[in-house]
Amino acid sequence: MDRPQIWLDFAPELHLFVSAPRRAGRTALRTDGTSTLGHVVESLGVPLTEVGALLVDGRPVRDSHVPADTEHVSVEAVARPQPSPAPPRFLLDVHLGTLARRLRLLGVDAAYENPDIGDAALAARSAAEQRVMLSRDRGLLRRRELWAGAYVYSHRPAEQLRDVLSRFAPPLAPWSRCTTCNGTLRTVSKTTVREQLHDGTERSYDAFAQCADCGQAYWRGAHHARLESIVTEAVREFGGVPG
Ligand SMILES: [Zn+2]
Repeated sequence: MDRPQIWLDFAPELHLFVSAPRRAGRTALRTDGTSTLGHVVESLGVPLTEVGALLVDGRPVRDSHVPADTEHVSVEAVARPQPSPAPPRFLLDVHLGTLARRLRLLGVDAAYENPDIGDAALAARSAAEQRVMLSRDRGLLRRRELWAGAYVYSHRPAEQLRDVLSRFAPPLAPWSRCTTCNGTLRTVSKTTVREQLHDGTERSYDAFAQCADCGQAYWRGAHHARLESIVTEAVREFGGVPG
């Protein structure tokens, strides 16, 4: 029996994953006749985490669909914002430390492992804690154990942050989470954190917070101007209440 020939086109957002000839528009592919459409798309380099609707001759199908001869397949990009049953929680791979700190700065739950615990352990933690795995590693995003995953499209932390916020629209609560360990901050008296303060800090500020998990002290007004601008810009563009 001849192997089926199908026709494929990919949304522009997915072009970075596929080989150059497949970026130009509809191209032909011979399949083995038994592989699912999900497998076919993944084998061409596209993580399924990045795929939205799959259309066959204009009709939506599941990724378990086995494409038949002459079918026209359109692979769409994931919708933004991507629907989420609850405020999303994240897990970031070892290369995304700056992004992890910026998400925490905005009050977004962002677990981060450094040193690297390995792909298997990351995938297991994503599953156990129902966290969206954020990575630029397509191999990691192919792991079946992941609860959910998302490819991070840029190398640059500022663009990475916009990518994640526009995709998942997490509620923002700036200055409510420890940037060091992801713990939640609680308001405390100056006395509680006095030993962590420098003399000038103790005199100048009255609003103090402490990480419930690691004990790190925080105080309003002492933040680096760059952090303030990250918060201001994110809140202006993606909502949330300035802390
Ligand atoms: Zn902490």
